[in-house]
Amino acid sequence: MNDYLNVEISRRSLLEMAPRLKILSPLMPDYVAALEEWQAKAREYAEKYIRPNALAIDLKCSKDPRYVDWDLIKKSTPYGFLSLLVPKSLGGGGQMCTAFAIVMEELCAGCAGIANIFGANALGVSGILLGMDFYHYDRALFELAEGDRKGEPVIFAAAITEPLAGSDVEDPVYLKSAKLMTELKPVKGGYLVNGRKVFISNGSIAKYTTLIAPTDKKRPVESMSAVLVKQGDQGFSIGRVEEKMGMKGCPAAEQVFEDCFVPKENLIGEEGIAVNFIEVVLGASRGPVGAIATGTARGAFERVVEFAKNHKAGGRRLIDQQWVQIKLAEMARKIHLARQAYLDSTMSFDFTGTPKLMSTLTTKMLLDLTPRWVRKTAPFTKFLRSKTVQKIKERMVEKELKPQDQRDIQVYSSLAKVTGSDVAMEVAYQALQIAGASSSLHRYELEKIYRDAKLTQIYEGTNQLNRHNMFINFFPEEAAHAE
Ligand SMILES: Cc1cc2nc3c(=O)[nH]c(=O)nc-3n(C[C@H](O)[C@H](O)[C@H](O)COP(=O)(O)OP(=O)(O)OC[C@H]3O[C@@H](n4cnc5c(N)ncnc54)[C@H](O)[C@@H]3O)c2cc1C
Repeated sequence: MNDYLNVEISRRSLLEMAPRLKILSPLMPDYVAALEEWQAKAREYAEKYIRPNALAIDLKCSKDPRYVDWDLIKKSTPYGFLSLLVPKSLGGGGQMCTAFAIVMEELCAGCAGIANIFGANALGVSGILLGMDFYHYDRALFELAEGDRKGEPVIFAAAITEPLAGSDVEDPVYLKSAKLMTELKPVKGGYLVNGRKVFISNGSIAKYTTLIAPTDKKRPVESMSAVLVKQGDQGFSIGRVEEKMGMKGCPAAEQVFEDCFVPKENLIGEEGIAVNFIEVVLGASRGPVGAIATGTARGAFERVVEFAKNHKAGGRRLIDQQWVQIKLAEMARKIHLARQAYLDSTMSFDFTGTPKLMSTLTTKMLLDLTPRWVRKTAPFTKFLRSKTVQKIKERMVEKELKPQDQRDIQVYSSLAKVTGSDVAMEVAYQALQIAGASSSLHRYELEKIYRDAKLTQIYEGTNQLNRHNMFINFFPEEAAHAE
């Protein structure tokens, strides 16, 4: 049997790992049962396919950062992880933020690099989902679910970061003075895109990229917009694929736009709404990044427990020594708290965030009761993109989403991201301490996980920026004053 499977802690069920879900189970049996089902699927895929290949892929990508294990991605399609968030009426998994986060924890315990392909895909998809742009639901999102059904993976990415603007694009306060180089210049029938995005996870393999850029670089706050660009579009090419320190299984690429024409239909939502859009997307995605980091920490913990069982120091097994036992208990404590932090974030989002809009009668009538072929007809498409539908959406948002809940979503998502990623670093570091000199050997995977863990502190807004986001939403008046 694989050593990994002997680590009892990783074989615990979801309800044992998250007692709050055990308590919730009789109250919301369907919700919790779905989470258990997705955890089981993710654990199976991680143990069968990710874990045994993690080291080899890390090494291959060190030699060639463009390397992507398509076979492994294809093997995920029967599980449906890529289309997990796509509504069931379009053939997807119909799940919300918590199910996705739980899946990410399991995949990352196997390998955070390979898992990041699924994480970055969800970031690209979230823009369309949360923007509730049904035009793209019926096309790109349908195609994504179909890809999983047919065993031909369709991958998404999200392009926000620029060479001279990382944190600045993710924060409306700093965006005002951000040095942006990408612009969506309005032209007849659409936009002409020029510029460059960097560090785009899945950037070199995504069929669709949700691209965020202003229609006027001089007014980024007012004109920030989101469009869908497709691999192969004229004027859109891939630049350097980065040789990065960790999460090597998922390529991070430059995306270059040179007079790339994007038709108006590819706009996601309305022009000029992307500042709010980035906030909503990050509010949804930072909780799952907490889960990515929790899984990364768990990966380090599981491997070092195995190491401590099989290695001796001073004639005794490491696991039998008190200093190691105390360190392991401390690591388990931190992982548990990081999991609670991400569950607070993702469950709040499921019940008080944008997913609430998906269960309204209006959305159900549009998505579940109106056949897709009707929605795709020209008059219906026109109706979906009309001002009337825009107004209906705005009213739904006003009625269903309370401002305090939205602030809490921001706080909890940043808190989960910061907690998880700091825990991932601390746990990976302590694992290295326990293994001593052996920790530097690639074959024990601990140095790899340490490299992977660091990146969770950086992407999806650095931890400094996330701490500031918590302050802004804890103290909105003081934050406004400071501006
Ligand atoms: C592995 C990986 C994958 C990524 N994937 C994607 C992706 O898919 N899509 C995408 O768009 N981007 C992606 N990124 C980019 C990521 O989002 C940015 O790296 C991040 O936003 C930080 O931007 P920056 O690197 O330019 O750092 P900077 O913004 O230049 O920050 C540098 C340092 O200064 C600090 N700092 C900056 N401003 C402040 C402030 N006002 N107060 C306090 N401290 C501050 C930061 O915290 C940081 O420590 C990825 C990055 C990595 C490493």
